[in-house]
Amino acid sequence: MTEYSNDFTDLNFDWAPARLTVDLSAIVSNWQAMRALSGSARTAAVVKADGYGLGIEDVGEALYAAGAADFFVAVPEEGATLRQFAPDARIFVLSGMWPGTEETFFENGLVPVLASEEQLAFFFAAIADYGDYPCALQVDTGFNRLGLTLEEAMRLAGDLSRPASFSPVLVLSHLACGDDAAASMNREQLERFRTVANAFEGVEASLSASAGILLGADYHFDLTRPGIALYGGDSAPGSSKMLKPVATAEARIIQIRHAKAGENVSYGATKSLQRDSRLAVVSAGYADGYLRAKSGTGVPLREAISTGGTGFLAGHRVPVLGRITMDMTIFDITDLPEGAVRAGDYVELFGNHIALDDAAAAGGTIGYELLTSLGLRYSRRYIQPD
Ligand SMILES: *Cc1c(COP(=O)(O)O)cnc(C)c1O
Repeated sequence: MTEYSNDFTDLNFDWAPARLTVDLSAIVSNWQAMRALSGSARTAAVVKADGYGLGIEDVGEALYAAGAADFFVAVPEEGATLRQFAPDARIFVLSGMWPGTEETFFENGLVPVLASEEQLAFFFAAIADYGDYPCALQVDTGFNRLGLTLEEAMRLAGDLSRPASFSPVLVLSHLACGDDAAASMNREQLERFRTVANAFEGVEASLSASAGILLGADYHFDLTRPGIALYGGDSAPGSSKMLKPVATAEARIIQIRHAKAGENVSYGATKSLQRDSRLAVVSAGYADGYLRAKSGTGVPLREAISTGGTGFLAGHRVPVLGRITMDMTIFDITDLPEGAVRAGDYVELFGNHIALDDAAAAGGTIGYELLTSLGLRYSRRYIQPD
């Protein structure tokens, strides 16, 4: 495991324009919390999209070392990367097997999650020379995203003419409304999934992601699949309160400016200053996932959502002024004591003081999108588990 893991490695973390601290011990602790809530079910780890933007190598290695034995990724390339860090884990690939990807599956021992009859037919042909090769089946129980229909799944379960080599190790489905414990859809999906799970007797079953785990034991089956909870984010409103924050993003102040009442700030001159102001210009913008929708003024989403972005600096919250730009954001530091901050200091964008989900909500989105939008420019530091 390397301390710095991308092309910005050469930058000293202490002087990087933008930097991201990922607390792997918090990820492990959050996984353990999800495992405790999963009762007798085993607990997988979902590390798709580069470990929700935080680095699949480091995240995968830490979770594997902590005892995670089942992982989910979106595409086979992610599985091949993870394999180097999780030598004997089961790695499920949610997008299934497609022509051209077979070798990546076979060479890395990845398990495709098959979601249609076409994919099944392709899989049977691809493994004809292999004999037994594991697969998982995704069944749609109401989400209408991926999966065999209930009828297709039941037909397959009873199909005695299916290839003898067909050996599904897992049947799974995904909840549409897991974040809303009161939604009747949850029970409906549960009942449909029970029917399928019973039909595939002896095959493990999995229904719940982070939010579903919180719905209780009925939803746990044999294997749970938490993702966002591992990274300290909300899967249901407020659900991350019991988790540890994992990622802290900070950007360096490049310049502190003094501006007069009546002057304007940033593109479009959409912010007219009401008072003489001190401004901190920091080196992160929408190319770093500091979404333009979090601008202080001057973007359409600000009409629809209540707040713009807020940074944390020298013990205070500081609001974004005017439009966020590609590489830079301007914060209002007028209310901070004179001399409390200098160019070179760092503003927290989210992390220990500004919760991930609050930072996301300020841009009209969710923690999942914020994390997976961080981009490549952060110098990264990983805090290792003890
Ligand atoms: C992304 C995903 C998960 C993890 O969801 P979280 O809400 O992040 O816990 C689990 N299962 C499937 C099928 C997914 O696509």
